[in-house]
Amino acid sequence: MSQDLDAFSLTRELLAFNTINPPGQERECAQHLGKLLEDGGFATHLVDFADGRTSIVATIEGADDIPPICFTGHIDTVPLGLVDWKTDPFNGERDGNKLYGRGSTDMKGGVAAMVVAALRMAQETHRKAGITLVITAGEETGCLGAAHLVKLGNRLGKAGAIVVGEPTSNYPFLGHKGVLWLKAKTHGMTAHGSLPHEGVNAIYKAAKVVGKLEHFKFSAPTHAYLGKPTLNVGTIQGGMNINSVPDKAEMELDIRSNSVQSHQAMLEELADFLGKEVELERIFDVEGISSDPQNAWVQQVFEVMTPYLGNPPEARGATYFTDASLLTPAYDHAPTIILGPGEMTMAHKTDEYCYISNIGAITEAYTEIANRWCKPQPQRT
Ligand SMILES: [Zn+2]
Repeated sequence: MSQDLDAFSLTRELLAFNTINPPGQERECAQHLGKLLEDGGFATHLVDFADGRTSIVATIEGADDIPPICFTGHIDTVPLGLVDWKTDPFNGERDGNKLYGRGSTDMKGGVAAMVVAALRMAQETHRKAGITLVITAGEETGCLGAAHLVKLGNRLGKAGAIVVGEPTSNYPFLGHKGVLWLKAKTHGMTAHGSLPHEGVNAIYKAAKVVGKLEHFKFSAPTHAYLGKPTLNVGTIQGGMNINSVPDKAEMELDIRSNSVQSHQAMLEELADFLGKEVELERIFDVEGISSDPQNAWVQQVFEVMTPYLGNPPEARGATYFTDASLLTPAYDHAPTIILGPGEMTMAHKTDEYCYISNIGAITEAYTEIANRWCKPQPQRT
């Protein structure tokens, strides 16, 4: 490992790889990180879920029988969007405290910081516990890389605690909402557009459904830090041509759950509410994450972050979902914190940036979090 590798420079190196998903093509970026980790002493495995779609699992062992701490992040990014950028999205341009580029916030800044912190820990000689880095491909289109790693079973190994470096402006979140994406279909009967009374209009049925959904609320009680579930009608499509009565309409519903009501119960409640005229079909379904604020490791992370934030953190959660939806259950529901240098408001936007000072601060904080896990101090009694 080069002694002077810093997270800012590594973020810029990662930004130079075009990993826009679709199509993804994370392999070269993964190889770059894989080499750094291997040179730093990590047992490194590159794992493809499809051609060119490469994730990394890298582990360094500790001396004792303590499961490693896992740091995880993704290296794919969303597309650039239709509006022109004022900077080159792959050149890591700097303006004052801002580092611009697609993925600077979501989440190459976070990945760079965790890799630098892990490489530092690899140089420690008296390490009781190890570190595992899980750096995934294909997160932005439904956690595909993470799902593949989970499916492989033994590749992930064990973990006793998980840090997900998604954008939180360095605020430690105790978890995030789950996601349940549904297709809602209405059916009708086609007829000539000039004889509408001879058909059954599926779009009229869909319109009624949309009207009902606008005011629908799940019965789940409010979660202490994940709040209430939400529902958004994301798309609607129906009809074949202007002069036919449409016999089919489809909507896509984006439901964000709060770890109180199971997804199955939510689906049943919604089906009940909408009645038999509507057919519901699952498109994507991952539960949320909610760590216990009183967990000893969670408290330790809060303690580490307090000087950076100026105050002890409160229990908060994120509305977006992450690879933790898959990785945390695979790691036997190890306590999980979402904590990264990116700006939530900048994710997926034109002229995405990350504050350089946040990348520096989180590198130090990750190092301290890893240090406390890997080199536990004797308990004071
Ligand atoms: Zn992300």
